Amino acid sequence: MTREYHPQTLAAAIGVATDRGHNAVSPPLHLSANYFWRDPEVKPEYDYSRSGNPTRCQLEKALCELEGAARGVIVSSGMAAIDLVLNRVDPGQTVIAPHDCYGGTHRLLSARAKKGQFNVLFVDQTSANAFDEALLCRPKLVLIETPSNPLLRITDIKSCAEKAKAAGAIVVADNTFLSPVLQRPLDLGCDIVLHSTTKFINGHSDVVGGAVLARDAALGEDLAWWGNCTGVTGAPFDAFLTLRGLRTIFPRIERQQTSAGEIVEKLASDERVARIHYPGLKSHPGHEIAAAQQTGFGSMFSVEFAEAVDVLQLLRNMDLFTIAESLGGFESLVCVPSAMTHASMTPEARATAGISERLVRFSIGLEHAEDLALDIFKGLDAAANNASLDASPLLKRAC
Ligand SMILES: *Cc1c(COP(=O)(O)O)cnc(C)c1O
Repeated sequence: MTREYHPQTLAAAIGVATDRGHNAVSPPLHLSANYFWRDPEVKPEYDYSRSGNPTRCQLEKALCELEGAARGVIVSSGMAAIDLVLNRVDPGQTVIAPHDCYGGTHRLLSARAKKGQFNVLFVDQTSANAFDEALLCRPKLVLIETPSNPLLRITDIKSCAEKAKAAGAIVVADNTFLSPVLQRPLDLGCDIVLHSTTKFINGHSDVVGGAVLARDAALGEDLAWWGNCTGVTGAPFDAFLTLRGLRTIFPRIERQQTSAGEIVEKLASDERVARIHYPGLKSHPGHEIAAAQQTGFGSMFSVEFAEAVDVLQLLRNMDLFTIAESLGGFESLVCVPSAMTHASMTPEARATAGISERLVRFSIGLEHAEDLALDIFKGLDAAANNASLDASPLLKRAC
């Protein structure tokens, strides 16, 4: 397909009516493990599903078009995507990652570093000084993840990619939180963009999957080689469902983002809210960078509630928001990071990262924004001790 089409068109139209076997309009699901050769000397386009599969290839092509990549690999999870790119790093070389990266990424990098597979340095990438200092160790690979989870901190992709490349590193961006609908890291100087397609790309909370997409075809080929070699490539059925989910990614994200903005605005004026972390707010420290490098502010935000709010009660008293980890699906989700997604961090590490026990993360789905806002306020009414909102800390301790 030509790049002259709008990305919305690409997401909807890629692979439609291309079936050579039976003229299927929707690309068929090819579950076969192997493919026959018409002649022992003529290798077919596909021979074995670990190395290549037509259904997986459709998804790969669609994601490459949307991210502006030359070649991609569809893998079995977001973690498999991260692990696949780590094959580019040798013992003795260094990986730089954000100190507040996805917990599973932190665990994977730490575990592999502990085995001596490479060195890892976790840095605050929103601090130019800290990042510059880390680059002095000439890393082989720099991983960027923005916005961060759960505080939605914003890293300047263009500036970090430029500096990291000048230091000789491969620059990889985890674009899971925004998807190519709202951010295209390859256009901002990264070499590789990866996804947990479990989140916005599939968007229906029924597949765990991942994707690695390279701007350069040779780098993409190398990653595909490793994908086949290690066997982390994704299942065809997962790719089929993910492509089906991808068809509606634009309308989904546009709707979810509009709703998130409306809900944030309603919450912002409530006295039970101490702070909202949403890059769309002018008061957010990353607002300017987000406005420059993103085409929208997304549908994720987190809220620090006032001390008078019992956040666990808040969660228990909402009906529409499901208490669950993960994000980016059609259904609205809520979690308390300190007790759920980030529970494995020590209290000290959480304090350093700024994740308090009163922080609640919201992933806005496709329900009506008014219903969702009312649901949060209903939860708040049940969870807030309104009488103590104005009380002095001393008084609070007494009662
Ligand atoms: C969920 C997530 C991952 C891990 O993906 P899985 O599909 O769960 O393996 C990686 N990075 C980010 C930012 C995520 O949100």
